[in-house]
Amino acid sequence: MSKRRFKVLRGLRDLLPEDVEKLKYVISVIREIFKLYGYQEIMTPTIEAFSLFEKKAGEELRHRMYKFIDMGGREVALRPEITPSVARFYINHMLSFQKPIRLGYIANCFRYDEPQYGRYREFWQGGFELIGSSNPEADVEILNIASTLMKRLGFSDYYIKLNHVGIIKGILNSEKVPEIVQNRILGLFDKTRYDEAIQLLKSENVTDECLNIIREVINLKGNNINQIIDSAEQYICKYSLAMEALLNLKEILSLLEKSELKIPILLDLGFARGLEYYTGIIFECFSSKNNRLALGGGGRYDTLIELFGGPPTPAVGYAPGIDRIILALNEEKIEIRTEKHRKTIVIPLSREFVPYAIKIASNLRGFDIPVEVEVMGRDLKKALSYANARNFDYAIIIGSTEVKEEKITLKDLNKGEQYKVSIEEAINMIKTSK
Ligand code: AMP
Repeated sequence: MSKRRFKVLRGLRDLLPEDVEKLKYVISVIREIFKLYGYQEIMTPTIEAFSLFEKKAGEELRHRMYKFIDMGGREVALRPEITPSVARFYINHMLSFQKPIRLGYIANCFRYDEPQYGRYREFWQGGFELIGSSNPEADVEILNIASTLMKRLGFSDYYIKLNHVGIIKGILNSEKVPEIVQNRILGLFDKTRYDEAIQLLKSENVTDECLNIIREVINLKGNNINQIIDSAEQYICKYSLAMEALLNLKEILSLLEKSELKIPILLDLGFARGLEYYTGIIFECFSSKNNRLALGGGGRYDTLIELFGGPPTPAVGYAPGIDRIILALNEEKIEIRTEKHRKTIVIPLSREFVPYAIKIASNLRGFDIPVEVEVMGRDLKKALSYANARNFDYAIIIGSTEVKEEKITLKDLNKGEQYKVSIEEAINMIKTSK
């Protein structure tokens, strides 16, 4: 009987050492931003109650969760995103803390999506959640974080697509369109299926005048911000809730401009995001060289914490998509600074010198020098050939004279030179080499 050879499941990925290095790099840049903006990193469990995510996930995500019954009979899910977990976390641990609260995370998420370019069933998100302020400066901080991250990653040409869910929702509320239908409409907008959305509104008996206004509004898009806001104002002026939302958007844009942050904004009043908990601005980040893939998304969610049983607490957040950022960096050939260190191998010339080799390696590691010991029992030639293939910089060769004289042979594999030196000298040479 042939043995089964297991493979990674569809849509899931093994990450090779070089993939992990890239992941670590992007994570390190996100963590730099946690530090710069005062976000404290937290961790939440991979598995949560299904209902935590289900409530406001949006139609599509709701059906794409890895959901199962655990052995205690609970309906649970692998997290498809982290914001609901952070809202729960805040209620469980931080209600008595002074606000604002700034929380950050790095986490793997799971969605049973159809695998395709930039879409995986397990992927990594970073995240920033600013809890406690409904002021425009909080929105501006989150937009600034999104922009700073793009800059620090080395994207020279990027933009943030921005909208405010309150504009369309405000119109639909005034027209008494039920919330469930509103969410469906925004879900269709999210997929740019505007015609279907309009059809759905027609079936809800929305007036032709309102449909025309919506058609005009969702076509407003570009970076001529003042013009777009003025046009929108003219279209929606009779809808007070929508006007309130537009005013909020205007305030945020004006603060962005006055604070001279120079964040490239593409205003798109027809843009929506799949998640249903947004109440204010929504946005996504793109590199201009590849506008197919959103490299992150976020928005304001002022009612989620209350929905989970907390007090009314405004909040706004951003989640960069780490895997897609790596794809874009690769595509644009932007340098991913992976950690480079000098590598040293210790090779005993025969088995009797193995203990000394282990001792020397351990000694070097005490000085923060990364060292491997030859553990295959190979002769010098074969061990050196391995060291060359794996790009080692130094080999420390240990034979009888070395042990007797308490010296070692240090071979510089890049220069092809070798020296008989004391351990202290070897440490010094390796540490000071560039
Ligand atoms: P979302 O909240 O769904 O917009 O997710 C935020 C970011 O996570 C997106 O902008 C993507 O960069 C990333 N993301 C979402 N879903 C996936 C996926 N299935 N595979 C890879 N990255 C994803």
